Amino acid sequence: MEAFAVPGLPEFEAGDDIAHEIEAASDLRDGDVVCVASTVVSKVEGRTADLADYPAGPRAREIAARLEELTGDERDPRFAQAVLEESTDLVMDEPFLLTETRFGHVGVNAGIDRSNTGGAELLLLPRRPSESAERIRDGLDADVSVVVTDTSGRSFRHGQTGVAIGWAGIPASRDWRGETDRDGHELEVTVESVVDELAATANLVSGEGDDGTPAVVVRDWAFGDHEGSENLYRDVEGDFVRQALRGWRYD
Ligand code: GDP
Ligand code: MN
Ligand code: MN
Ligand code: MN
Repeated sequence: MEAFAVPGLPEFEAGDDIAHEIEAASDLRDGDVVCVASTVVSKVEGRTADLADYPAGPRAREIAARLEELTGDERDPRFAQAVLEESTDLVMDEPFLLTETRFGHVGVNAGIDRSNTGGAELLLLPRRPSESAERIRDGLDADVSVVVTDTSGRSFRHGQTGVAIGWAGIPASRDWRGETDRDGHELEVTVESVVDELAATANLVSGEGDDGTPAVVVRDWAFGDHEGSENLYRDVEGDFVRQALRGWRYD
């Protein structure tokens, strides 16, 4: 397997065609996985915003004041408002905001980015990243899979990695249950989130700064002969860690 960045992509703006730019800059083959940073998907989908777009309501003002008190850092209540508006569930409200986005991803500050925003104050995650992935896939000539990635923190571990927030042409996970290990034991629980592993691979190549490499091709990797599953995000009922945290619904 190899992973390489698509070279020479432009600075993306609202309305640009990502598939067209990738097609022009690469020589894709059937079976490739094309991973695209959500940052550029958001840019072309016009998901930029400014703090002035989010006049803070009472809840956002309360959250910002509390976070300011806890952390000693100045907090803009309009940012808290933007996070609330991008979220359907506030999983934690201190000492930072951990929320569920409308499409199911749980992340700090609803994944709202303040770096590589193309000059805007805020870059929101794509509204429906799997639909974005499908559109990019449709726009490419070769029969590829597409994964839309974001850099995300993880509970229990320092550091961020690439995770998948949207995908097309590939199941989210491959199910090893029922297959056997080297001792002949049947695997009972292992469902491998391949889209996250592909996203992490791509993120390693993309970088986080000014590299200008938002699209990475993973070549000569195959899903293999396994069952697949579309599930990536746990339902609250089956998410015992989340149930252990205080929950609050925003709608
Ligand atoms: P995120 O992980 O989706 O939040 O995206 P990052 O901000 O980490 O950016 C991922 C990669 O895309 C980095 O190499 C950035 O330099 C690059 N990047 C971000 N925006 C653009 C853009 O508009 N054009 C190009 N060519 N690269 C970009
Ligand atoms: Mn991001
Ligand atoms: Mn990143
Ligand atoms: Mn193991």
